[in-house]
Amino acid sequence: MLDFASLLIAIGFSTAFLAAILLAAWKTTRRDGFLFSCAVGALLIAASVGVSTIDSLSPSTWAQGLGLGLLLAGEAHLYGSAAQFRRGTSPSRRIAVATFASVALLLLALAAGYNGLAYAVGFLASAVLLFLAANEFWQARAEAPMTTLGIASLYFLVGLSFLPRSVLVLLRDGLVVAGPPQNWAQDLSLMLVIGAIPALGAMIMALSQIRTTEAHRREALTDPLTGLWNRRALFDAYQAGFPPSCIALLFDIDEFKAINDTHGHAMGDRVIALFAEAMKQDLPADASAARIGGEEFALVLRDMPMDRARQHAEDVRARFIARVREMAGLECTVSAGLAASGTDKVDIDRVLAEADRALYEAKRSGRNRVIVARRQATPQEPSAADAIA
Ligand code: GH3
Ligand code: MG
Ligand code: MG
Repeated sequence: MLDFASLLIAIGFSTAFLAAILLAAWKTTRRDGFLFSCAVGALLIAASVGVSTIDSLSPSTWAQGLGLGLLLAGEAHLYGSAAQFRRGTSPSRRIAVATFASVALLLLALAAGYNGLAYAVGFLASAVLLFLAANEFWQARAEAPMTTLGIASLYFLVGLSFLPRSVLVLLRDGLVVAGPPQNWAQDLSLMLVIGAIPALGAMIMALSQIRTTEAHRREALTDPLTGLWNRRALFDAYQAGFPPSCIALLFDIDEFKAINDTHGHAMGDRVIALFAEAMKQDLPADASAARIGGEEFALVLRDMPMDRARQHAEDVRARFIARVREMAGLECTVSAGLAASGTDKVDIDRVLAEADRALYEAKRSGRNRVIVARRQATPQEPSAADAIA
């Protein structure tokens, strides 16, 4: 039999250090609330282990109740933290319900004078809470498969190790016990916990890092004024070329400089944001919309006949005019140029250049209109706008 108190002390220290690391990480990012709830969970478990160590040296009902109660509250926080990671919502309610339900069962057993049963109930509730935490990470596995599955497996394994502890205490010691149960299941479970804590800590920190990196990546590809993709995001997405049957739409707000000059830059920004809103409305799910310059926007529509794409551009144009009139009290229009990628995969630059020439034609022929490039640009063929120029 291993020295029970030594195992507990080792767990207490490693959990307390883990809590400190998680708190420090949370303080620097302030973004990942799940780190905070996880740190609180670790602190409660460290406190529980402290009390349980005292209980193992000189058993008492209050130490047993407090030790198990803190353990359940800590595990409820781990479950809440897992749910917070997955859902992004506050875990307070979930933590409160999980803590209340599990501690109530524990107190009932203690109040009835069955301290052996209280251990069995506490261990069983621990298993359930850890299974719930494992399930949250399992459900969140699409985000970072290796790490979330690693965490889910560890929570599951540790939860599983509580089950024989729960059964053995009743089978071996009965409903009433003289002190904390000590058997092979206890030793196995505690050793598993010692191994799991640093691994869990490392993986939870990695998850936070993955989130931060992803947030930076998204910021680098998003236009802050409109929330649309920026030019880089559009070119990254179609790096390998436009798939066949794509239509590129380029929009350029008409006489925009005059709006800046007459009404100020802030109003100019507002008009840009209003155009983005007009463009986002009724957007097909597989479309890509980007702000590729000051008052220039690109839209890529997939698997759509040209007449429908043209109608889509007309709708955006009409919506923009109505929106600017209604929301900003301004008369402002937009021009658009459309070009199709054709039946083969083609270079994004070539299709956009073709659309740009059609846009130029729209500007030259009076603005506030949609022009479709008349011929598909290929290296051999001159384009529609070439013919016009
Ligand atoms: P056209 O009808 O030919 O497109 O004329 P235009 O005035 O819209 O075109 P031009 O290219 O001459 O002017 C674009 C202006 O957009 C110039 C620039 O100061 C302004 N601009 C570029 N980016 C921003 C921005 O982020 N906010 C604001 N408010 N203005 C911007
Ligand atoms: Mg322009
Ligand atoms: Mg313009």
